[in-house]
Amino acid sequence: MAFLDEVKKFGKSIADKSKDVIEVTKLNSQIATEKDKIKELYQKIGEHVYNNYVAGESTVNDELCAEIKEINAKIEELSAKVLELKNATLCPNCNAELAKDVTFCSKCGAKVKE
Ligand SMILES: [Zn+2]
Repeated sequence: MAFLDEVKKFGKSIADKSKDVIEVTKLNSQIATEKDKIKELYQKIGEHVYNNYVAGESTVNDELCAEIKEINAKIEELSAKVLELKNATLCPNCNAELAKDVTFCSKCGAKVKE
């Protein structure tokens, strides 16, 4: 019986893990979609700037820039969820992805925790 319980426990933790992996994949594809939106907006802004240049007008488009800012905030939110699921954190210095329990960044050596 004890063996079966172990097997059950093991199976369950694998199921939880694969659920996390699916969730991370889902979040990452959402992030990619949002990044594509930003690329499109960059292109629109570029066109807009050029058209204004040709017309001899002001070149800043606040509306499109604000839209990008909003999407970036959403990406940050999604990325935070991904980190949480991976039990990871970001280096405050170089933004490398690190395990939550490390004290120093393995990439740049910066102190991660106080
Ligand atoms: Zn670092």
